[in-house]
Amino acid sequence: MNTPIAIDRNEILKRYKPIDKYTHKGIQGHALLIGGSYGKIGAMCLSSKAALKTGCGLVTTFVPLCGYEIVQTSILEVMVVTDEHERYLSDISFELEADAIGIGPGMGQKMATQKAFHDFLSNTSTPLVIDADALNILSHNPSWVALVPPRTVLTPHPKELERLIGKWYTKEEMFGKTVVFSLVNHVVIVMKGAPTYIIDGETIYENTTGNAALATAGSGDVLTGMITSLLAQSYKAVDSALIGVYLHGLTADIALPETGYQSFIASDIIANIGKAYL
Ligand code: AMP
Ligand code: MG
Repeated sequence: MNTPIAIDRNEILKRYKPIDKYTHKGIQGHALLIGGSYGKIGAMCLSSKAALKTGCGLVTTFVPLCGYEIVQTSILEVMVVTDEHERYLSDISFELEADAIGIGPGMGQKMATQKAFHDFLSNTSTPLVIDADALNILSHNPSWVALVPPRTVLTPHPKELERLIGKWYTKEEMFGKTVVFSLVNHVVIVMKGAPTYIIDGETIYENTTGNAALATAGSGDVLTGMITSLLAQSYKAVDSALIGVYLHGLTADIALPETGYQSFIASDIIANIGKAYL
């Protein structure tokens, strides 16, 4: 196995692109976040707000009808587009030109949603961040992975990774299987955990930021929004994953003295992205 490359501040600065003085929202990148279902619209609020706070110029959020007022009133800066179904996604097709799409948080796995996800994959060439239920749907339908566009990032936590690549018995085996999956499917894989590893083909990176405060509801949804935002700003897939994971972890290191482990929540990640960027 290749020794993982430690991702620290130096490695991030090599990849970071400063904001151009003359940029405007139209060229700063448009991120689209797709997901949510009745009772899980908060996941979309977290990922959408995190995308905005990570630097893209525009964010559109695509949710079932029941999410319209929730997203629109909790985040004033996003545009909201809705599916015609009240409680879950049933048709993920639209005339929207986004630079990157994050899909999966809170989405559920209803049959209609699975079919809509298949049709969506068949019709998009936009780089994706695939998370949560979208990953689980891929695990049930492994042949659909071939439909995934170039520059795509998958963000499984250990259970989601196991569904995707099968059981492993040693760390070596886990890395081996994930490297093969990345190579065969041309995707970057963020193996979320403590620590988080990023796999880009045969290259393995190990993140150096973050702490146990991140073990809280919605933490992964925020990360999806952050990586989607970076992808929309034209970062390479691997750099979007590395910078996103590094900043996400750093927010928890910054906030810890103020919140402690127990009272840190996913909104605290979003609130500290600005400080992490400094
Ligand atoms: P999810 O399970 O999808 O909500 O994602 C959880 C996020 O929190 C991932 O980015 C994990 O790497 C991170 N995380 C969870 N537990 C820990 C921990 N004990 N130490 C550091 N990061 C963690
Ligand atoms: Mg998650």
